[in-house]
Amino acid sequence: MTTVDPRRRVPRTDAVLAEPRIAAAAERLGRALVKSAVTAAQDRARRGELPVEQEAVVSAVLDSLPTTATGLRPVLNATGVLLHTNLGRAPLSAAARAALDLAAGTCDVELDLATGGRGPRGAAAIDALLAAVPGAAAAHLVNNGAAALALVAVTLATGGPDGRREIVIARGELVEIGDGFRIPELLTATGARLREVGTTNRVSRADYAASVGPETALILKVHPSNFVISGFTRSVEIEELTDLGVPVVADIGSGLLAPHPLLPDEPDAASSLARGATLVTASGDKLLGGPQAGLLLGAPGEGAQLVQRIRRHPLARAMRVDKLTLAAFEATLRGPAPPTRAALDADPAALRGRAARVAGSLAEAGVDAVAVDSAATVGGGGAPGVTLPSAAISLPERYADALRAGEPAVLGHVEHGRCLLDLRALPPDADAALTAAVLAVGAGRER
Ligand SMILES: *Cc1c(COP(=O)(O)O)cnc(C)c1O
Repeated sequence: MTTVDPRRRVPRTDAVLAEPRIAAAAERLGRALVKSAVTAAQDRARRGELPVEQEAVVSAVLDSLPTTATGLRPVLNATGVLLHTNLGRAPLSAAARAALDLAAGTCDVELDLATGGRGPRGAAAIDALLAAVPGAAAAHLVNNGAAALALVAVTLATGGPDGRREIVIARGELVEIGDGFRIPELLTATGARLREVGTTNRVSRADYAASVGPETALILKVHPSNFVISGFTRSVEIEELTDLGVPVVADIGSGLLAPHPLLPDEPDAASSLARGATLVTASGDKLLGGPQAGLLLGAPGEGAQLVQRIRRHPLARAMRVDKLTLAAFEATLRGPAPPTRAALDADPAALRGRAARVAGSLAEAGVDAVAVDSAATVGGGGAPGVTLPSAAISLPERYADALRAGEPAVLGHVEHGRCLLDLRALPPDADAALTAAVLAVGAGRER
């Protein structure tokens, strides 16, 4: 037994914090975060889990520190689900990332630099949206699709000048959007009343016509964006509802601005307006491929007037987007096609070529990897039931957990006892990082 209490020899906090690499980390990440990592490493040294030498404590601290001051970790999306809500939905384009960086500093978001006076907030983002959807006469941006719907309901169906409170909606469109949130509850939470028409599987124009009356504020069409009903079904198109004397609001969900050939059943903003919708609402971070945002588009005439009313509602201020969203949204629309669009439009033959190359280099390094055909999906963000031909790297199942714990984390999915890494949601320039991540797991196993 030693006579010196080993706890005494644990390096002192100020000595560890003064070490140049630790001091540099504190500059980057903040002193509080680094100091708590130092305390944790000292505790481990006291418990005998680490040598008590300063160098050992310093390297334990450095190993435990994140690369940035956020707890978020980058993930390579190899799930084959293009819009994965748990992974933050749409990844941003390089142009949108650059715009975020610019807007992160001080910028002229609400200033007219020519006059020095106050300028219209977010005008450039609205202009970009109107340029992308020429059929719209006015537009407004809020925090997400749910906020767009809530703002429409609260403005048009509660306390309007005519006291109308009812939203007419088909029973088959009472959608739960995810994480337990339901559109009917969101609408009634504003004080609006729902008038449900039709049955789960069938609704007709006559059902709507019989329900529209002096209490009706609007007809709402909600796209069932995360499920399909098939069999004995019938729904009513927007154009059948435009002569009932009330605004028709179309919640298209995914934010597709124009039709896409691979997604014939997915509604888009331009077509919905052309078919007679007064207002269109949608998300910014689904098929549009931008940051989290909610879009509100108004048709010429009444739709544009309603957008102006909605913009001035007191709650519009509570749902206002920040400068980061405005910047990233505008750059998504004005810049090159965002990653979500590139993934949607990826050529299956090119995906198979990528899978063969990645699997080939892994096999050469001794990994049990083969390229296989697979099926990708758009995800909860739209196009339910649609599969997109894709290609994947098939690995032994045990890779799944290790890849998820890696740096960067890789999320694949397990099918028939194999871990599949689908390439459709990953940009081609991620293949090298994906290969390296798999090799790192392989090397870890041999150690
Ligand atoms: C996703 C979705 C919403 C909610 O949009 P968020 O941007 O997630 O708030 C509303 N309606 C439909 C049809 C959707 O698909």
